[in-house]
Amino acid sequence: MEKTDILIIGQGPAGLSAAIYTARAGMRTLIVGCAPKVAGDYEIDNYFGFTETITGKELIERGRAQAAKFGVEMRCDRVLAVHQNGEQKFVAKTEEGDIEATALILATGVSRVRPGIANLGDYEGKGVSYCVSCDGYFMRGKPVMVVGEANFAANQALELLQYTPSVQVCTQGKAPEMSEEFLWRLRESGIPVLQKKIASLAGNGGLEQVVMDSGEQIEAQGLFIAMGQASSNDFAYSLGLLRNGQFIDTDREQRTNIPGVFAAGDCVGRFLQISVAVGEGALAGRAAISHVKESRRANLDK
Ligand SMILES: Cc1cc2nc3c(=O)[nH]c(=O)nc-3n(C[C@H](O)[C@H](O)[C@H](O)COP(=O)(O)OP(=O)(O)OC[C@H]3O[C@@H](n4cnc5c(N)ncnc54)[C@H](O)[C@@H]3O)c2cc1C
Repeated sequence: MEKTDILIIGQGPAGLSAAIYTARAGMRTLIVGCAPKVAGDYEIDNYFGFTETITGKELIERGRAQAAKFGVEMRCDRVLAVHQNGEQKFVAKTEEGDIEATALILATGVSRVRPGIANLGDYEGKGVSYCVSCDGYFMRGKPVMVVGEANFAANQALELLQYTPSVQVCTQGKAPEMSEEFLWRLRESGIPVLQKKIASLAGNGGLEQVVMDSGEQIEAQGLFIAMGQASSNDFAYSLGLLRNGQFIDTDREQRTNIPGVFAAGDCVGRFLQISVAVGEGALAGRAAISHVKESRRANLDK
């Protein structure tokens, strides 16, 4: 498995800023993430130090070049799941393989993808879940459905097979965006991909059926939401991070409640601006450096 000192999920201002600090301090640093939304022809007028307007694209390119100068490895890849292993390290499963890290910085921005199911909230904790590794166990032998159109949903569906053979994927009417390999694995595992839209949920006390916009009802006692790509929220669920609504809870040093996991930028939800993301990235980078050093010292003592 590939190993690094610090894994940063997100290649936006927060992730790049954190990486510049960690790599300059001599830490092996890997960023996984593709171009952030702001990296287009948007004019950025309020970022410190630019009297001429700079575009988001150019600002991010400059950040990438600066990170590369200090030896940061950057990869456009998607993280599908993260967990902590027995050695107190973090393992990220990405579309291209697994990565083990001593410290993890979440800099994933905000996810705005919602499934658009009318009474979803009524069934949260009563069948609706956002985390297979947390709630899959409660669905042993029961019919379940995963909502999502991309590799994240496919991976969640395949993980559910360890608890139940009755798994389906519903794309909410979108064309499936899963890779050929994931589509093949779903087919081989007998998991149907329904290009349909769930309108609402039904059941007394707990989820029993999903109701399609056509009126069709499909039996499902578990509904796992996995739209788009995995977000910081999904990682929070599986790692046990405290949240504040949809945002990750951190202290002033960008430390989460799990030692070795830090978060910065929009996913922390303070002031959703580049300058704040850059500042929080620097703090997260500094805290991650301390964590790696402590972990090395502890290993030497052992
Ligand atoms: C169009 C637009 C214009 C804006 N204009 C301004 C402005 O003028 N001034 C200003 O200060 N702010 C502006 N903002 C806000 C600013 O862009 C954000 O506050 C800032 O980008 C947040 O940085 P971030 O690093 O936290 O997250 P983001 O920039 O959102 O980066 C998130 C990163 O996480 C990655 N990621 C997410 N999930 C995964 C996953 N599962 N696996 C791998 N990678 C993942 C993404 O690919 C991306 O690289 C604008 C935003 C937009 C969208």
